[in-house]
Amino acid sequence: MSTQTGDSLDKLALEVVACRKCRLCETRKNAVPGEGSTSAKVMFVGEAPGEQEDVQGRPFVGSAGKLLAELLESVNLRREGVYITNIAKCRPPNNRPPRKDEAAACRPYLNRQIALLQPKVICPMGNSAIHVLIESEGSVTELHGIPFEVGAMTYFPMYHPAAALYTFSLKNVMLDDFRKLRALLDSAVD
Ligand code: URA
Ligand code: SF4
Repeated sequence: MSTQTGDSLDKLALEVVACRKCRLCETRKNAVPGEGSTSAKVMFVGEAPGEQEDVQGRPFVGSAGKLLAELLESVNLRREGVYITNIAKCRPPNNRPPRKDEAAACRPYLNRQIALLQPKVICPMGNSAIHVLIESEGSVTELHGIPFEVGAMTYFPMYHPAAALYTFSLKNVMLDDFRKLRALLDSAVD
C-alpha cells in the first residue's frame, strides 16, 4: 500500500475527529483514531470504541484495554511501543458491532494507517476485525494464533480481549497466542 505524499498519522487523526462519513458521527462523543508508536512493528485492530473510549477519545482504555495491556506486558511489549486502533473509529450505539456500510466508510482511514506505519504484523482481534481485514469466512475460534499471509502482509488473528473477560478460560489461550506473536515479531526481518 503506498502513502500519499504529505500524509501523516497526525493529519489522519484530525480528519477522523471531524469525520461525518457515516451515521456513527451522530451519536459519538469523541472519535477514536488510534494511538501508539510511529515505528510500531505490530498493529492491533479491535472492533470499535466502547463507552470509556468514546469519553476519552483513546482506544482500549476500559476493561478490555486493561487486559490488552496485561497481555502485551506478558511478552515484554508496551502499549506505547505498538499501535492500537479499531475497524470503526466512532462508538456504535449500545456497543453494537459496526454495520457493513459503517466499516466500509471507515476503511480508508485504516488503510492509510497501515500504509503510514507499514507494520510487520497486523492482529485483527475478534470476528469483526477478522472479517473486515482477512477475506475469510472462518471464525476466530478456527483462525486465532495462526499467521495468515495476504500479499506482503502477515495477519495474526486473535481473540478480542473482551471475550476473555466473559470466558475466563480464553485468557490462557490469549497468553499463548501472544507468545506466538512475540516469536513471529522476533523472527521478522527489519
Ligand atoms: N473494544 C474495542 O473493540 N475497541 C476498543 O477500543 C475498546 C473496546
Ligand atoms: Fe467517519 Fe469512521 Fe466515524 Fe464513520 S466511524 S463517522 S467513517 S470516523
